[in-house]
Formats: sequence, C-alpha cells, structure tokens
Amino acid sequence: MAEDTPVGRRLRNVKNIIIVCSGKGGVGKSSVSTQLALCLRASSPTARVAILDVDLTGPSIPRMLGLDGHPVHQSSDGWVPVYADGSEARLACMSVGFLLKRKEDSVVWRGPKKNAMIRQFLSDVRWGDLDYLVVDTPPGTSDEHLSLVEHLAPVHSRLSAVIVTTPQAVALLDALKCLSFTRATSLPVLGVIENMSGYVCPCCGEISNVFSTGGGEEMAKQEGIPFLGSLPIDTELVTLLDASDAANAEGVTSPSSGEAHSFRLLE
Ligand code: ADP
Repeated sequence: MAEDTPVGRRLRNVKNIIIVCSGKGGVGKSSVSTQLALCLRASSPTARVAILDVDLTGPSIPRMLGLDGHPVHQSSDGWVPVYADGSEARLACMSVGFLLKRKEDSVVWRGPKKNAMIRQFLSDVRWGDLDYLVVDTPPGTSDEHLSLVEHLAPVHSRLSAVIVTTPQAVALLDALKCLSFTRATSLPVLGVIENMSGYVCPCCGEISNVFSTGGGEEMAKQEGIPFLGSLPIDTELVTLLDASDAANAEGVTSPSSGEAHSFRLLE
C-alpha cells in the first residue's frame, strides 16, 4: 500500500472504506449509509465505525444521527469527529453540516473548493483505528466522487462502493451510470441495495409494491455484481430519521473545552 501522503497516513489504521452512492437523489442513500454504519457498529461489541458525509450541498447525516448543530473541535492531533454514542466512541461522524452557521445555509462551491474540503476531511480528521469508514456521497457521479477516488485509491487497498437504488426504471438507469463510474475508476463494487422495495402495511402486514420490486436484483444479476438485499418502505424509519433518533444518540460527546477550539471552515 502506497500510503505516504497525508491522507494515507491518517487512514493507515482504517480497515475498510465503503463509499455509498446512488444515481438519483431521494432513493434513500443517506438513510442506507446511516443504517449501514449502525449495523456495522452493532455487528460486534468492539466494532469501531465512522461515517463521513461528503454530500456537501445537502448534508443530512448529522440530522439522521441526532447530531444537528453540534460543533466540531480541533485538537493538537487534528479535528475531532462528533461521536453519536457518548463515551463508547464507536460511531464517529464528520460532515460539512457541522460547519454551517445555520442549518439552512447553503454551500455554493465549485469543484476545487469541494476537492479541498474532501481532502481536508480525509487527512485532517482524527479518525483513529476504525473497522469501517462509511462515506455518504451526493447523488450522481460528480466532483465529490472523483475527489474521493483520487485521494483514496492510491493509498487504500480496501476501498469499495455500494450502490443504492429504488426499483423504478428511471432510478435503475441512473444506478447503471453509477456502476459505469465505478468501472471507469476501477472502484470495486460490493453490491447493490434496493431501497423502498415494497410497502409493508403496519396494520395487516400485506406487501404492496408501490414502486414495483426486484429491479435492483435484476440489474445486479445482469451486471454480474452481488445483490446485497432489499429494504421495504418503512414509515417508522421516516419518523425516526426525521426525529433525529436513528442512533438514539444520547450523550453526544465533545472534547473537553480545555483542549478544544473551534473548527474553521476552509477559506
Ligand atoms: P437520498 O440520500 O438518496 O437523497 P434520503 O436517505 O435522504 O435519500 O431519503 C429521502 C427520504 O426518504 C427521507 O425522508 C427518508 O427518511 C426516506 N426514506 C429513505 N428510505 C426509506 C425507507 N426504506 N422507507 C421509508 N422512508 C425512507
């Protein structure tokens, strides 16, 4: 592994990096990223997981983890991520959402500035020892995706992607574009997740295929990539994510005020 760059050195003790992407917005990519991170953390009592939100213009991970409005601090060894699980420190989070003065502020940046922010997230955050770093990306394949691959592929050998889609034909077509991006950049694909695949009635348990179903699995078969599974439309999930309660994030931690001073957004 050629790791002699600031990014490589910072991520030396991160075992796996999973980039979550989708061809389209609104298919549930951020929700899936959040659930993936929570599931990986729950997979073992010692699993250490972090989630990096590089959806710079529409960051939603802080809200989904109940961390909205939390400040980011800097220590002598870099920026300290926000922890979603108190003193356990097993689910760390970093997002541009933490850097905005008000959550309704917009980020209007061109590619070079986005690239600099992403490089800074990768090289300057105190990620520490991690089993998994899950990276939530914006919809489509844009500057953010290219920056990630350019910074990570040369320095990390366990880098891969998960593609999230819904079953409708329009979403699947865009998911194929995502797949084509991974092929063009030699990014290994772990597989496809079909989200919003059927609606389970909370009263009678009957399944209605609101957006049809099975398209993601069919696409995976045709493209020769693994199908990782499908997630139904779940009204409780919306309630939990909207109420910022996905992680039951009590006791959000921050470094002691003695060592901390405020994070500064890139000029
Ligand atoms: P994206 O990141 O692809 O833009 P989000 O994860 O922000 O999409 O999800 C968009 C909306 O859909 C959110 O309100 C989220 O709570 C909801 N959502 C996502 N997945 C599901 C699901 N399986 N069941 C119900 N609602 C969902």
